[in-house]
Amino acid sequence: MTTRRGDSLDRANQLVATLTERMADPQPAPKGPLYTGIDLGTANVVLTVVDAQGNPVDAAYTFAQVVRDGLVVNYVAAVDIVRKLKAQLEERLGQELLYGAAAYPPGTGGRDVKTHQYVAEAAGFEIISMVDEVDAANRVLGFTNGAVVDVGGGTTGISILQDGQVVHTADEPTGGTHFSLVVAGAHQVSFEEAEQMKRDAARHREILRLVTPVIQKVGSIVARHIARYDVETVCLVGGTSKLTGFEEVLAKEVGRPVIKPAEPLFVTPLGIAMAAAKAGEDL
Ligand code: ATP
Repeated sequence: MTTRRGDSLDRANQLVATLTERMADPQPAPKGPLYTGIDLGTANVVLTVVDAQGNPVDAAYTFAQVVRDGLVVNYVAAVDIVRKLKAQLEERLGQELLYGAAAYPPGTGGRDVKTHQYVAEAAGFEIISMVDEVDAANRVLGFTNGAVVDVGGGTTGISILQDGQVVHTADEPTGGTHFSLVVAGAHQVSFEEAEQMKRDAARHREILRLVTPVIQKVGSIVARHIARYDVETVCLVGGTSKLTGFEEVLAKEVGRPVIKPAEPLFVTPLGIAMAAAKAGEDL
């Protein structure tokens, strides 16, 4: 049975909308245990908190360059950032955050997965689950058939689902950083300035034109991975997919409908926290 597209995105949109409302207007922590998702990304470190039922409670994030292509490259700075975001959330919620899950890009090997775990543990979390990033995203999307594509800062993660089972995963080094480099080159500005330009929705039409070849590259990667499978729909998540019009260019490349939630940046981080809450049921 194919997932009905509207249903899947309605649920994800509702969950992420609740999370962003809580971030804008923090509420006292609900009774009972809380669970945190720790997402160490190439561009952003995001901590997301849910209650024991997996309902969104709060989140905090910061731009950071402590991970490259899914690997932790600055361990000390990564621990420091996670510790600060943890303290910030604890102060807002009036409760200590103990249990967490951390995530790794699909296909990451054992030692590199452990490094993500050690960062979270050194920052004061008890890690009760390690989860694949695209698998985490799918906890929010609830896709049963199709491809989930997570275009982050450094990489594009792909997960193909058939009848609710993940049948193929991959992570390839093309992401938002490459978009920013193209924008920086075209406008003769620094990488940081290009990042700012890229995030300005008012400039998205112009940016889209510049980065179309990079989206086509992402498309060729996705097309290669889905070729052997019966994929009807592709669902886009990750911060880079916030670029207006990304989905239309990608749809042309992969020859299939491409959908994306209203706020694709928080889908994976929220799913990581939900994985922690699920693991908490067995404690
Ligand atoms: P990775 O998963 O590759 O390790 P990450 O988890 O840090 O990286 P995300 O947080 O999903 O990745 O996305 C970060 C990327 O999203 C950055 O390249 C950033 O420039 C881009 N981005 C964020 N907001 C926007 C926006 N409004 N428009 C365009 N791009 C955006």
